[in-house]
Amino acid sequence: MANQDLFYSVQLTTPLGEIRGKVAVQDAPMRLAEVVPTALDLTNILVQQAIKKEQALGRQISCGPGCGMCCRQMVPVSPPEAFYIMDLLDFMAPNTRAELMARFNAIEKVLQKRGMITPLMSPEYTDDPVLAVAKQYYTLNLECPFLTNESCSIYRYRPVVCREYNVTSSPEHCKNPYTLEVEKVSIPLALSAVLSRLTARLTHTKPRLIPLSLVPYWVSKVGELRWRQWPGAELFQTFMSFVGPSSHEQGVAA
Ligand code: SF4
Repeated sequence: MANQDLFYSVQLTTPLGEIRGKVAVQDAPMRLAEVVPTALDLTNILVQQAIKKEQALGRQISCGPGCGMCCRQMVPVSPPEAFYIMDLLDFMAPNTRAELMARFNAIEKVLQKRGMITPLMSPEYTDDPVLAVAKQYYTLNLECPFLTNESCSIYRYRPVVCREYNVTSSPEHCKNPYTLEVEKVSIPLALSAVLSRLTARLTHTKPRLIPLSLVPYWVSKVGELRWRQWPGAELFQTFMSFVGPSSHEQGVAA
C-alpha cells in the first residue's frame, strides 16, 4: 500500500498564547532534516507573538534589511538544522554551492589556525570556556557564509536562532554585543534546543549544537547520520514531546 500523509491537529499553550494548527507528517521513514520545516514554522509563530507583545509595550524592533551585525556572531544550530543546511547547499546551482563552500572552508581554516575548532565543537554551549570562544569568534569578524550585501541569502530557510534574534536596542549595541547590552526579544521556547534534544534521544547521545560556519565540517564527521531514517510518526511525536505540553490528534489527510 502507498504511504499516506498523516496530519496532526496541534494545540500548544505558551506564555505568549495558544498555538493551534495542522501539521502533515509522512507516514514513511523520515530523516532528521525533514522535521526542520515544522520547527521553523513554529518558531515563526512564536516570534510573531513575541514581537506583537513588545510592540504592545511600546518597544519597536530595530532589526532591518541591510543590518547583518548579528551574522558575525557564532550562530548555534541543531544537528537536524545542520543536515537541512547541507540539503539546501546540495540543491543550489553548482557555482553558488562552490562559492559558498569556499566561504565555509575559508572560515574553517581561520578557526583551525587559531586552535578554535575543538572548543567550538564542544556540545556544552553554556560552559564558560565556550562563551569565551564565542567572544573570540566575534572578534575575528567572520561573516556568515550566507551573508551577502549585509542581507541573508537564505532568508526563507534561515536557522531557528536567526529567526529568534530580534532586538529592541540600538543597532550600535549589536556591533559590541559583549560590551553593550543587547535587548533581545524573549522567545519562550527555543526550537533549536528541541531539535537538539530530539537528536540526542534518537541517537542515545548528549544534546549538542554546532556553529553554523562549521556545519560542512561537522556533517563530514558524522557520516550516515545525515541519511538515517525513522518512522515519520515516531519522529514527529518525539519532537512534540520536547516541544512541551500539547495535544494532538492524528488523522489521514484527505
Ligand atoms: S543564516 Fe542568514 S540570518 Fe543567519 S547568520 Fe547567516 S546570513 Fe545571518
